[in-house]
Amino acid sequence: MSYLTHLQCALCNKHYDPNRLWNLCPGCNRPLLARYDLEAVARALHKEDLAERSPTLWRYREMLPLADPSHALTLGEGFTPLTKAVRLGQEVGFENLYIKDEGLNPTGSFKARGLAVAVSRALELGARQFSIPSAGNAAGAMSAYASLGDAEAHVYMPKDVPQPFVAECRALGAHVTLIDGVITDCGRAAAEDNPRSCRFDMSTLKEPYRLEGKKTMGFEIAEQLNWELPDVIIYPTGGGTGLVGMWKAFDELECLGWIGRKRPRMVTVQSDGCAPMVRAFQDGSEFAEPWRDAKTFADGLRVPAAVGDFLILRALRESSGTAIAVADNEMIDAANLMGRTQGIFAAPEGGAALAAFQHLRQSSWIRDSERVVLFNTGSGHKYAHLWSSATAHAPDTN
Ligand SMILES: *Cc1c(COP(=O)(O)O)cnc(C)c1O
Repeated sequence: MSYLTHLQCALCNKHYDPNRLWNLCPGCNRPLLARYDLEAVARALHKEDLAERSPTLWRYREMLPLADPSHALTLGEGFTPLTKAVRLGQEVGFENLYIKDEGLNPTGSFKARGLAVAVSRALELGARQFSIPSAGNAAGAMSAYASLGDAEAHVYMPKDVPQPFVAECRALGAHVTLIDGVITDCGRAAAEDNPRSCRFDMSTLKEPYRLEGKKTMGFEIAEQLNWELPDVIIYPTGGGTGLVGMWKAFDELECLGWIGRKRPRMVTVQSDGCAPMVRAFQDGSEFAEPWRDAKTFADGLRVPAAVGDFLILRALRESSGTAIAVADNEMIDAANLMGRTQGIFAAPEGGAALAAFQHLRQSSWIRDSERVVLFNTGSGHKYAHLWSSATAHAPDTN
């Protein structure tokens, strides 16, 4: 069972009834966070009990929002491998390098985590129609869980989104609308098409439970490293749900007494064609200004404005982390390096994490003795067009 007690606004701290459907805080229009009775969880559950549970994110059900576990829609999401990247480590001269391969999730990205939990919970609370603006992967994931839950999915994507994302949503039974613009324009169009709000809005951080699904990456890293967190986590950041979610997960694990006070330094990676968080981090701002003319082929990173901007920036600063932008061509070179050493066909976003690692090593921000986790957030398959011109991105042969 779940130990969910209430929802709390991340900015004004006001509490809300968790047994109703909510989007943003009605008072200040900021994200709501799920809160649990963690003292009761600590009495009821021991970390050793997890070993017997199924290898999906639902193994952490006490710290997830579903009142009735039989309402969990599952395609096998979560509990992805955390691999020690030995061959890649040798290639770059670094001992303790790990890759969390989120490309192995259903629908080929970690968006499955957030949407498995959010769709299951919204159905439990009575919603039957959903809408989502998406750069691509979130739309596919929502379509999958909506279909499994016999609900209606309305997805809004930029019209230049690669064809496999559109095909996937259509095959999964969603209503697809393509918009001339980026994800923020898709959000506006979705709202306009839904004047009476009969479709529940599943936008990133505009409902409380995608964050809960994604926080399980933090639980898994802790469990897979035997409850000792790494020194650095490098995360390709768009809306920031995963980064903010992991940061929340670590606090929850500390409340349970399963980890101590030590935290990883959290690193946000963006494309130099769309880097609102990097700019805000460097400027010392609490909130991020929207990025104008966002351009990157890493679709998950083409997010010019994020409602959770202040939560991302808070996590980076509290963790003594940093934010760094890399060029799109570096992402492909790095994805090729990951591919030919580790057998992982990474999305460009995963390549971005490795490219950022190389920069941070070069500047000695990462030290030799440290333990580093890179996120490959999606599979390369839906981005195969980026490799279609063999000469454009031929791997450097060294
Ligand atoms: C959505 C997405 C991201 C960004 O994730 P956030 O948690 O929203 O910051 C990164 N990579 C891929 C492949 C994505 O689909």
